[in-house]
Amino acid sequence: MPFYKGHKPYYGFLGKHHTEETRKKLSKSHTGKKLSPEHREKVIEILKNNPPSKEARKRSGEKQKGNLHHNWKGEKVSYRALHNWIVNNFGKANHCEHCGKLDAKVYDWANISGEYKRDISDYIQLCRKCHIKFDDSPQKHLERIKNLSLGWYRKCLR
Ligand SMILES: [Zn+2]
Repeated sequence: MPFYKGHKPYYGFLGKHHTEETRKKLSKSHTGKKLSPEHREKVIEILKNNPPSKEARKRSGEKQKGNLHHNWKGEKVSYRALHNWIVNNFGKANHCEHCGKLDAKVYDWANISGEYKRDISDYIQLCRKCHIKFDDSPQKHLERIKNLSLGWYRKCLR
């Protein structure tokens, strides 16, 4: 429903309560349904006017504990900031210093020391395949990478 000036949405149902039996029926018929865009907006509007209580928020917060979203905010922020710093200063990774591949779909900047230093010599460019292997046993792969001729590329960047 488009928004018309002066139009007052009907929120009368907020104050009404269904009987227990009707509630069960409604809940059953709504299970698995996706909300239409209009319905979504209504729900958002209602939530804005009636924000969930502190207890309700706490409950939904506890549900999120331990999932990726929760972790991302803590540990990953510094990692992301560093990754942005690398891409801004040295560009996207575009080749693999391990296998020398130049036409892989994805290249990553991989951290060498595990300390995520703000120092480009603490990072190497790897294709996704080598990156996964590298993260398995960084030391072993590092020895091989050190001897690779493609190391010249990093010198060019400096
Ligand atoms: Zn590779």
